[in-house]
Amino acid sequence: MSLLNRTCPARVLLVDDEESIHSAYRTILSAKRNTGALDDLEAELFGEATTDSAADLESPIQFSITHALQGEEAVELAAKATVAGRPFEVAFIDMRMPPGIDGLETIERLWKIDPLLQVVICTAFSDYSWTEVILRLGSKDNLLLLKKPFANEEVLQLATALAQKHRAVLETRLQIEQLREANDRLQHEIGHRQLAENKLAHAATHDHLTKLPNRNYLKTVLAQRFDEQDLPPLQTDALIFMDLDNFKLVNDSLGHVIGDELLIQIAGRLQAALDEYSGHDSVGPAPVQNLVARLGGDEFVLFLADVESQDSAIRFAETIRTEVCCQYELGGNSVAVGASLGIAFSSSDMGSTAEQMMRNADLAMYRAKFTGKRCLAVFDQEMHAAVLKRLELEDALRDSLQDGYLHLVFQPIFNVASGKIIGLESLLRWDHPEIGTISPNEFIPIAEETGLIVPIGKWVLEEACRTIRQLNLSLAEENRVMVAVNVSKRQIVAPGFVRMLEQILRDNQIAGNQLNLEITESMIMDNPEEIVDILHEIRKLGVRLYMDDFGTGHSSLSCLHRFPIDVLKIDRSFVSTMEANDDYETIIHAIIALAHNLGTQVVAEGIETENQLGRLRDIECDLGQGYYFSEPRPIADLLGLLSGSETSLAHGFHTSNICNSEQVAHHPIPFTLGMLPITPVNTSFDS
Ligand code: C2E
Ligand code: MG
Ligand code: MG
Repeated sequence: MSLLNRTCPARVLLVDDEESIHSAYRTILSAKRNTGALDDLEAELFGEATTDSAADLESPIQFSITHALQGEEAVELAAKATVAGRPFEVAFIDMRMPPGIDGLETIERLWKIDPLLQVVICTAFSDYSWTEVILRLGSKDNLLLLKKPFANEEVLQLATALAQKHRAVLETRLQIEQLREANDRLQHEIGHRQLAENKLAHAATHDHLTKLPNRNYLKTVLAQRFDEQDLPPLQTDALIFMDLDNFKLVNDSLGHVIGDELLIQIAGRLQAALDEYSGHDSVGPAPVQNLVARLGGDEFVLFLADVESQDSAIRFAETIRTEVCCQYELGGNSVAVGASLGIAFSSSDMGSTAEQMMRNADLAMYRAKFTGKRCLAVFDQEMHAAVLKRLELEDALRDSLQDGYLHLVFQPIFNVASGKIIGLESLLRWDHPEIGTISPNEFIPIAEETGLIVPIGKWVLEEACRTIRQLNLSLAEENRVMVAVNVSKRQIVAPGFVRMLEQILRDNQIAGNQLNLEITESMIMDNPEEIVDILHEIRKLGVRLYMDDFGTGHSSLSCLHRFPIDVLKIDRSFVSTMEANDDYETIIHAIIALAHNLGTQVVAEGIETENQLGRLRDIECDLGQGYYFSEPRPIADLLGLLSGSETSLAHGFHTSNICNSEQVAHHPIPFTLGMLPITPVNTSFDS
């Protein structure tokens, strides 16, 4: 039973040494309804309790009355009631109760047990003045005075009002308690959430391995510093990019756990070095903090805000380099580690945005790597000019397709023994009216990096297939040639490449075996698993695969059989060196023998001399390509060679593309390719 259950009788304690007073109280306070067994129990526990009917007065609440004739008895009853969780709510206490303690002492002791007890002092004598009572008990709002003789309604009114007040106080306290608990729970929950949010925010902006700020964090700091200000900062900031040399080797040879340990140690060294630098160099609190971040892998970046001078920042970068490039003890191994560093400074002409700063420092770092490992390079005007050139090319390349500045040239691939042209390699050309002619060696990597190679490569495939169809339509059947198209990895791995290829073949009505795709050796060997399935898919279309620039990348001879390669193209560097160094001829010979064993044909690239051609013929090289036979030319310029009306520079045979008088007789009609009218001429193979 809760005290706050308003239907419960209010518990009243009557303390008076006169029995008659008790019965008077009882008559006044007794309710009309009998609360039954409950009151019997209370009477048993705390003394007599009665709920007799009152004659004429009625209270909105019922009372359960407990009687005590002496103060000590009252205190005892109150203690029991409180322990049982059913404290009294109102007590009427007589002032004088000989022979026991008087009313004031009784009240003091009752309040010690329950300070909330509402007390009415009932007195007929003026043995204590009210002032004395207040002085002794304090000015309390739960203490009232009732002078004897009292009127019935006074007693009933006081009991009712005080019981209700007691309940209201308890209720308020309970509510406050509940609110406090709810508030505590809420605070706890908020704290929890805050903690979780902080953890999330930290995880999003920090590297979990080294605990350093990550790329996101660095980007935000740099954006605030460089991009969100109206004016470029007057101070010079420095950004240092650092990349470990041969970290992959550590990971591969000693395992990732050791690799991680190394990164943690390096992060610690960088942070310590930066702390020392910041402590020495900063004058007062900097508006932006210096920081060291891990970009990912083995790349770290240090940002120095408002450097004293460029020299001091370069000196610091040197310190970092020596700090990092040393021996590390890792899992019982002593590992020598090197690092390449690039540094860039904010400046209005070379880099004043976050992106430019990152790019410049990154480029300087690559320059350092390229120069030789364990170097430091400073981003300078020369690198800046290269960046501008590159950006200009990138921009122009974006428009190159619709501007129509791209076109294809073709270089014959011929049979080394007979001189017969069996195919043409398409090579992309870019002639820009303002920039001039740009080599594919320069623009293909840009196209690959920017992804432009995908649309450009598609155009190349379409254009090559369209050209070869037109060409073959105009050639005698036995003179028809295949076309070899160079493709980049990014093109091949782009979703839907094989479907697109199939569509191009269909649109141009050419069979798969009229098309060859040239893929470089490194393109396959860098990540064979990624590409080998696609190569098989391509093969299913009848398209043959050439491995280009063979010998320049990894030595993939031993794994050649794992890939569906039809033809190997031995890189030009082998052919050009074979005259000066016999070993190269031996190597080419070995490659040819091995390829033949695997049922693979070989093309020698870059044949420039008669001597090279002769030697290649002697070691049974199947096919050849090179300036000696023909440079790459627009298709219209090759028609003479293809039809046999023209001979190649190559001595030892004519380049008649199997076009004897008999065959020409079958194709006597002049044909056109593009806008150029061409008439096949009777030329024999052997002159
Ligand atoms: P690649 O596929 O190995 O092409 C052979 C390169 O060697 C061509 O350079 C060609 O002009 C050159 N060459 C041929 N014979 C000789 C010779 O006797 N002596 C010398 N010194 N060079 C010779 P090019 O046209 O500058 O192309 C360079 C590279 O650009 C190509 O190497 C190829 O990897 C790439 N490339 C060209 N066109 C395309 C294309 O449409 N798509 C893709 N993805 N790459 C292409
Ligand atoms: Mg090629
Ligand atoms: Mg090549």
